[in-house]
Amino acid sequence: MKKVLFFWVAVCSMLTASAQQRPQFGEKPKLVVGIVVDQMRWDYLSRYYNKFGEDGFRRLIDQGYSFDNCLINYLPTVTAIGHTSAYTGTTPAFHGICGNNFFIDGKDTYCCSDKTVQPVGSDNQKAGCMSPVNLLSTTIGDQLRLHTDFKAKVIGVSYKDRASILPAGHSGNAAYWLDTKNRQFITSTYYMQELPQWAKAYNKQLAKNKEFEKVGKDVGLYPLTGHITTDMAIAALKGERLGQGEETDMLCVSYSQTDVIGHKWGTRGDHTDEVYLELDKDLTRLFAALDEQVGRGNYLVFLTADHGAAHNNQFMQDNKLHAGKWASDNVKKELEQYIASKLGAAKPVVLGIYDYRIFLDHQGIAEQGLELQRVKDVAIEYLRQSPNLSFVVDYEKAAMAPVSQFLRERMINGYNFHRSGDIIVCVEPGYYEYGSWSSPTGTTHGEWNPYDAHIPLLFYGWKVPHGASPREVHITDIAPTVCAWLHIQQPNACIGEALQFSK
Ligand SMILES: [Zn+2]
Repeated sequence: MKKVLFFWVAVCSMLTASAQQRPQFGEKPKLVVGIVVDQMRWDYLSRYYNKFGEDGFRRLIDQGYSFDNCLINYLPTVTAIGHTSAYTGTTPAFHGICGNNFFIDGKDTYCCSDKTVQPVGSDNQKAGCMSPVNLLSTTIGDQLRLHTDFKAKVIGVSYKDRASILPAGHSGNAAYWLDTKNRQFITSTYYMQELPQWAKAYNKQLAKNKEFEKVGKDVGLYPLTGHITTDMAIAALKGERLGQGEETDMLCVSYSQTDVIGHKWGTRGDHTDEVYLELDKDLTRLFAALDEQVGRGNYLVFLTADHGAAHNNQFMQDNKLHAGKWASDNVKKELEQYIASKLGAAKPVVLGIYDYRIFLDHQGIAEQGLELQRVKDVAIEYLRQSPNLSFVVDYEKAAMAPVSQFLRERMINGYNFHRSGDIIVCVEPGYYEYGSWSSPTGTTHGEWNPYDAHIPLLFYGWKVPHGASPREVHITDIAPTVCAWLHIQQPNACIGEALQFSK
């Protein structure tokens, strides 16, 4: 009898312990901090673990919770889509951000370009005419704002406009990004007419930054961008008194220098080592500022990446590994010639090849009296003969395509018929798109393979137990998890699931 009683006491106390890990209704953190590290492969966590200090990345690993197998569940794996999917819990099919650049019904569009708004903080039209106008669904921040009758403050900060604007959503109070020409953080009239005093004060400091003056517009190639982004995030934290109101606030910080450096110098070498170790120090500073202002245990952090990156193709070949270049410029030229010779198209019919997707000119095809399906079939016929492609799929027939279910699902998740083009290809493992813009020592990303699609996912802080899980989860699970913990509705096109933190 005693044994049975002891057993029940043990079970009950275990249940109480696990119940306590989850926030109860009425409980809420003071602040949510979302951190996205652009181009951070999951394996960088272990590669640099012994070199990291205790209070940056390692605070999240050693004290927080790591989902060790977080994958991106759509194609292509690029920056704007990654940021959007993490914060909306959904994929391009629903949120409509189908690339950094894509065609909307045949019109070449930059993801955040908005000619109806003006820059605020500089007169640089090219850098400042930006907003979330092309985003079709809500973000975590939008839901937080809705839930609190717009009392919660939501702010985005990054070097890249898209990495600041898309996380902050439609109703974010502000998104700030760097105008590298004027060396200032700016925003647009979508958010406000004038920068707040604290932002102007920080910009004054930035104008005197000698290191920034020296490197100028190339700042993205230096760890300095991480320092500046952190300074701006801390300035926003203090200036807006985030985490000090009645409602939960949200700060979305994205670090982009890691991507710029990766594109230039690849996944290996001094530049990449330096930028991650410097970023570790930036995170240490950010967490210290959060501890001081909001208090340890009062804020909830998640850290992830928008995508990873392949190893440099030459580095792979030098080490006898299968890899190479896929020259999309040449493919486009040859594809045009092939279609012209087969169908007699007098004018070009390919608008562009963006991120392994072929965008056809529907209007031009119709004007030439050609049938779209016939053009697609001929294009596919050519692409299937072209080297180093594993799969060539007509998007409209993807559901029936003879490719694995795993890949089919990722293609369809990424497909929005107004914005994603007509044909998607997958290159052989180790291969990547290479053009006149590519750095021979660098890398890129965009594919489904683990090097591009396996990203860190760490939670830390308010109510988060220490632990790790090896199970497969997805970038689209981040938003519903945060929303579940805040007891707020999920974003309005969310397809992910709220994750359990089991010890
Ligand atoms: Zn990139």
